Amino acid sequence: MIASAFLVQAQAVTLNGPWIQGAMVTGKASPGEEIIYNGQQLQQTPDGDFVFGLGRNAPAVVELQVKLANGSQKTLSFDVTQRQYVTQKIEGVASKHVTPPKTVSARISREAKAVRQARTANDNRSDFLSTFIWPAKGPLTGVYGSQRIYNGVPKSPHYGVDIAGPKGAEVIAPAGGIVTFADDDLYYSGGTLIVDHGHGISSTFIHLSQIEVTVGATVKQGDLIARIGASGRATGPHLDWRMNWFKERIDPQLLFPKNAKPALQ
Ligand SMILES: [Zn+2]
Repeated sequence: MIASAFLVQAQAVTLNGPWIQGAMVTGKASPGEEIIYNGQQLQQTPDGDFVFGLGRNAPAVVELQVKLANGSQKTLSFDVTQRQYVTQKIEGVASKHVTPPKTVSARISREAKAVRQARTANDNRSDFLSTFIWPAKGPLTGVYGSQRIYNGVPKSPHYGVDIAGPKGAEVIAPAGGIVTFADDDLYYSGGTLIVDHGHGISSTFIHLSQIEVTVGATVKQGDLIARIGASGRATGPHLDWRMNWFKERIDPQLLFPKNAKPALQ
């Protein structure tokens, strides 16, 4: 009897994939249910909405723990599609951006720490539930997850989608949020802006030529937030848009219908 009651209640958790590496997964819990993913209890909206991200290398099976109001617990398992990531060779990058001189290592780690810190926000805003729009117009020139080789030197994977566009072109907010980080000049990423969409979901925009908002500002979907540039480790003007669920990297492209291109916006 207990088991069947359990089953009925656990089925009240609804989840929206896609169950693929790099995906943002949203779901809805029933009143009183707690949802735990990777040891972390997920924040819920007043309606029970929650979100989590499947990283670039998420395993083939992931589990969610559902704790019911009566204290009983159930584990739900999901298969995660494993992706093949492309390798991209990039030549002509300034050598100081491929193998940075020792003198800048303290700066690089300080900047990385500040960016990591901004992504720890667990704001209760629910902008992550909105239908995202592309933050810039232009052809896609880089994709999530690709292995990058700079001037022949293999580097860590690329986590953003790159949208080519002229320097100074508008970058708009893909969803509402609050600005948690803004800096005109980071070593690798140049002009860098982070907008928090709530519950750990954030957008990071890099290589900007100009930032049009300040930390603490609330932005609405479609607001002008920055301008495209080629600052930091970039070979030409483009917008690199990254998304995170806390420190987990997710793929912005998966938020759009398959084959949708920003140029069509
Ligand atoms: Zn990029």
